[in-house]
Amino acid sequence: MRIVLISTPIGFLGSGKGGGVELTLNSLVSGLLSLGHSVEVIAPKNSKLYESNEKAKLHFVDGEDQISWQHQNYNSPVSIPDNSLLAGMLEKGLDIAKKADVLLNMSYDWLPIWMTQNVDIPIAHIISMGSESLVISNLLSKVYDKYPNNFAFHSRIQADDYPFIKNPIIIGNGFKLDNYTFQDSVDGPLAWVGRVAPEKGLEDAVYVADKLSEKLKVWGVTEDKNYATKIEQSFPKGTIDWMGFLSTNELQKELGKCRVLLNTPKWNEAYGNVVVEALACGVPVIAYKRGGPSEIIQHGQTGYLAYPDDKKNMLSYVEIIKKIERKKCREWVEKNASTDIFANKVVNWLNKVIKEY
Ligand code: UDP
Repeated sequence: MRIVLISTPIGFLGSGKGGGVELTLNSLVSGLLSLGHSVEVIAPKNSKLYESNEKAKLHFVDGEDQISWQHQNYNSPVSIPDNSLLAGMLEKGLDIAKKADVLLNMSYDWLPIWMTQNVDIPIAHIISMGSESLVISNLLSKVYDKYPNNFAFHSRIQADDYPFIKNPIIIGNGFKLDNYTFQDSVDGPLAWVGRVAPEKGLEDAVYVADKLSEKLKVWGVTEDKNYATKIEQSFPKGTIDWMGFLSTNELQKELGKCRVLLNTPKWNEAYGNVVVEALACGVPVIAYKRGGPSEIIQHGQTGYLAYPDDKKNMLSYVEIIKKIERKKCREWVEKNASTDIFANKVVNWLNKVIKEY
């Protein structure tokens, strides 16, 4: 199959601004290449793919980023800046896809979804977020009516955010296991990984660390500086150990040394890449029972699911985290979320899309 992938229009691949989509795209390219498919990627200028993905042709587009939907009002109208990166990537993608089988869109936005019903090339969409915008959800509902197979979701609970999606295509996600080393560090520190932004609920993890009089190691891009400062000022100095944004390789080395990952999203997390990355290193995860993480974590086997927003409940699980066998965490990823498993699901889905055209 010849597949043209459109990346996120928020930040170049490797910047961290695109969140989980950056890693998902790379994992998918690895899986598709290893299954023998041909892949071209349209991405913002300065983007980098994993070295092992060098067989995928990368096309660069320069332009203005979109504003991320999770940082706009739910009722905001669509806004497209002058010299739009999204429009530029779609233009290039459509052109290259004339010689391909399918255009696979990984940006969460209105324009590519609208195009589904207005161009002859099959456009398939990996929807990377829950319902974050009225205008996108309404359009999705309309297009889904005619093209129900063109949309895939990472988790069932994410798809439930769109009540009109009756039989969602669920593709999960994939991780290149050679990139993660198992570590048996049962006495390590507490970890938190993610974009530092309100929907990620960092303050609840800092609460847990503070109650235990421990430090919390925090990795990720600080997207919202005011939010970060406010949390820092609400807890004793030094409770947060800011570690910055690291490459996957550096991150997994550090993350593997931790005894648990605290995952505290306040929104309906579509999947939760960081949860699986921790598990791949042998690190159990305690998350709130909401969104993607609640479908990934096996309560009592690979971590614990606390009542949503119940910090004390989360704390109580940290106290018994040694009951979790770290090997089981890694095993879950091997059996459920390798790049091959992911790419196979995507290929089966794309075959269905292409057949209809
Ligand atoms: N990440 C990273 N380096 C860091 C912190 C985070 O590469 O120092 C990546 C991580 O690997 C994951 C992404 O950031 O792929 C966060 O994705 P997730 O699905 O957890 O949340 P999102 O940002 O998409 O809401």
